[in-house]
Amino acid sequence: MLMHMMNTSHVWNYYAEKSPLASKGYKKGSYWPRGKMLGGCSSNNAMIYVRGNSRDYDRWEELGNPTWSWKDVLPYFKKSEDNGAYHIQEEKGAFHGVGGPLKSRPITVKVDELMDSIYSYFRYGMGPIGSIGSTDLVGFVNTQSQAARFPDIQYHHFVYKAKTPDFATILGKFEMEDYINAQLIELNKKAEILIVFVTLLNPKSNGNIKLRSANPYDPPVINANYLEDHRDVATLIRGIRYFRRMLTTQNFKDHEMEEFKIGIPECDKLDFESDSYWECYVRYMSTTIYHPVGTAKMGPAEDPSAVLDSTLKLRGVDGLRVVDASIMPNIVSGNTNAPTIMIGEKASDFIKEQYKPIPKKTEL
Ligand SMILES: Cc1cc2nc3c(=O)[nH]c(=O)nc-3n(C[C@H](O)[C@H](O)[C@H](O)COP(=O)(O)OP(=O)(O)OC[C@H]3O[C@@H](n4cnc5c(N)ncnc54)[C@H](O)[C@@H]3O)c2cc1C
Repeated sequence: MLMHMMNTSHVWNYYAEKSPLASKGYKKGSYWPRGKMLGGCSSNNAMIYVRGNSRDYDRWEELGNPTWSWKDVLPYFKKSEDNGAYHIQEEKGAFHGVGGPLKSRPITVKVDELMDSIYSYFRYGMGPIGSIGSTDLVGFVNTQSQAARFPDIQYHHFVYKAKTPDFATILGKFEMEDYINAQLIELNKKAEILIVFVTLLNPKSNGNIKLRSANPYDPPVINANYLEDHRDVATLIRGIRYFRRMLTTQNFKDHEMEEFKIGIPECDKLDFESDSYWECYVRYMSTTIYHPVGTAKMGPAEDPSAVLDSTLKLRGVDGLRVVDASIMPNIVSGNTNAPTIMIGEKASDFIKEQYKPIPKKTEL
């Protein structure tokens, strides 16, 4: 569904401006679809339920947003959740809720069984994770220290069986250059393909969005500024290397997983193991995982880039709140839909608090 809606009239087909720093392997630059139907992107997304981590929200509060710490937002995550894993409810009820509109179902698999489980799912659609889609398989690592509490890379996975009938059409949705598509189409004729999205968390590069003109039908100017800050490039390279190291583990070998090197003329002149090769590679293959946030961030009055106060009221305009992913002062470390729903739940309490009925007087 996710892929089939791309480049159709069901979504706003936006593109970030072309850049020499990132997405060089994509014909029109990084594609930013936005759901046009009721529910916006929550209706055309991959339905991965991730909250980020506690530090993200504690940091929001530290930045001058009272009542947005992890302790404060947790009840709102629980409120919207209907967690179907009853054993998780028993063990971790303090963190998960039931009865809300948003169904979630964590799958837990022991680490040493993980590869077998993933493979059983990919190959036969069976096993402990057989009831979920491959896009639901996400992993988090800290590429600098195993002891670190917080991740800097998230892995998303897409898998295609050998000879997937509509593979060229699906791949076409990414709008990569023809010479890249051709290599993957050829590969899929003989092999199953696991595409790993090495996803940068908490990027240091910042972008902006502007109106292109006074015509509301003109698409906005999206300056993503991906990979402008070199620390982001370095983290992505560590994330790629971390995953490549797993290819040498027995589990990957047992399943005959092999790395496929996509030929990119400019990068192929460089030593395959070098930092400069991988920098070249990420500048070609990088794109979005569809989680832009922060264009109308909340923050204290003294922060000139904060247009909202911490109750999401727009400064300088009476009676207007902004309630969506744009209010995040920093992106969370993960996917953004569950956090956006939490923001909606919290905003509804701000409004109820403001308009709560005035208690009737019982005496003169
Ligand atoms: C393809 C895709 C996959 C995703 N997968 C996941 C996932 O698996 N898990 C997850 O947690 N998050 C995912 N996300 C991100 C998540 O869906 C969003 O962060 C979340 O929905 C943001 O909600 P929002 O209300 O801030 O914005 P949106 O849901 O984007 O709402 C913006 C609204 O503005 C409207 N709009 C846009 N342009 C115009 C215009 N010019 N004129 C009028 N209206 C306009 C849109 O139609 C939409 O209704 C995904 C996003 C996409 C695009």
